[in-house]
Amino acid sequence: MKQIFKTRNNGELIIIAGPCSAESEDQVIDTAKEIARSDKVNIFRAGIWKPRTKPGNFEGIGEIGLDWLKKVKQITGLLTTTEAATPEHIETILKYRDAVDIIWIGARTTANPFSVQALADVLTGVDIPVMVKNPLNPDIKLWAGAIERFAKAGIKDIAAVHRGFYPFQDTNLRNLPKWELAIEIKSIFPKIPIINDPSHISGNRKYIAEIAQKALDLNFDGLMIETHINPSAALSDSNQQITPKTLIKLLDNLQIRKASSNNSEFSELLERYREQIDSIDYQLLELISKRMKIVKNIGEYKLKNNVTIFQLKRWLDITLTRKEFGRSIGLDEQFVKKLLSLVHRESIRKQSEIMNKNKLT
Ligand code: PEP
Ligand code: MN
Repeated sequence: MKQIFKTRNNGELIIIAGPCSAESEDQVIDTAKEIARSDKVNIFRAGIWKPRTKPGNFEGIGEIGLDWLKKVKQITGLLTTTEAATPEHIETILKYRDAVDIIWIGARTTANPFSVQALADVLTGVDIPVMVKNPLNPDIKLWAGAIERFAKAGIKDIAAVHRGFYPFQDTNLRNLPKWELAIEIKSIFPKIPIINDPSHISGNRKYIAEIAQKALDLNFDGLMIETHINPSAALSDSNQQITPKTLIKLLDNLQIRKASSNNSEFSELLERYREQIDSIDYQLLELISKRMKIVKNIGEYKLKNNVTIFQLKRWLDITLTRKEFGRSIGLDEQFVKKLLSLVHRESIRKQSEIMNKNKLT
């Protein structure tokens, strides 16, 4: 089968749109027809089995929804995708091979290696593309591990989907994007495209355009956006779904930047800036190394005088004065605090090593 998931390399984006859940034949077909008016959308999504936090909510329409996806393909020519969370879901999808082009693995499933392996086992020897959403918790190994399990089962057409992570705190967003993890996944699997799901990150339709733009600025390869013909009547994720009309406007307004430029003036200037950054990075590391040598001397001195490693007053003093200085030279206060904690933690580790050098720990 033709490879669907390719990294962007200045080429076309992978745009996936459709409702959170398939609810009725009319809702699915009407949404798909409106979405297909945009020539930017390639794939239609709809959940058939829905993972819900509490029982008693709409848990998906089930197998009959696959007939509707088949109709979507026939009417619009779009490719289709739905979520599979159990081996039985996959077996059912494979019975309707002409209805579903791509399977996606949800965040709750990716979090469980037993579930992922069970799905990979039924997919062994099957030629179907798979999208792997990030797990609920920000564990890059779990996400990469799930991708590996499908790759090992012989799936060649794979994409990763960044849908954000459970926040554990009050936030405006439903799930926190961890852009650095998404970028790390890209460096682990350079050939696997990474798609952003601004709908599940936002939880609220008003943030979707902003998150989508940010993803494209970071060179994501595509977007998955929940789209419903009548979002306020949606049976799941009503607050974060947008109408096809809003989707089309959103896609038209996106600034699509290139990953690189052929312009030689641009390349030369970029090269010069990068040289400056390289030189500053080496200076930073040399300074940190100098600092650590002094930390070591202090550690030995403290050991000789039987004084504790951690001195609260000194630490509070350091954070306060450095934060103030940082602010005065245009650095973000939180950033300075995080940077200092990291350096301080390493200093403590070094001094503990010195204090305990004769012990096993
Ligand atoms: C979904 O895409 O509708 C879904 C359930 O997503 P997630 O697994 O990211 O929560
Ligand atoms: Mn949803």
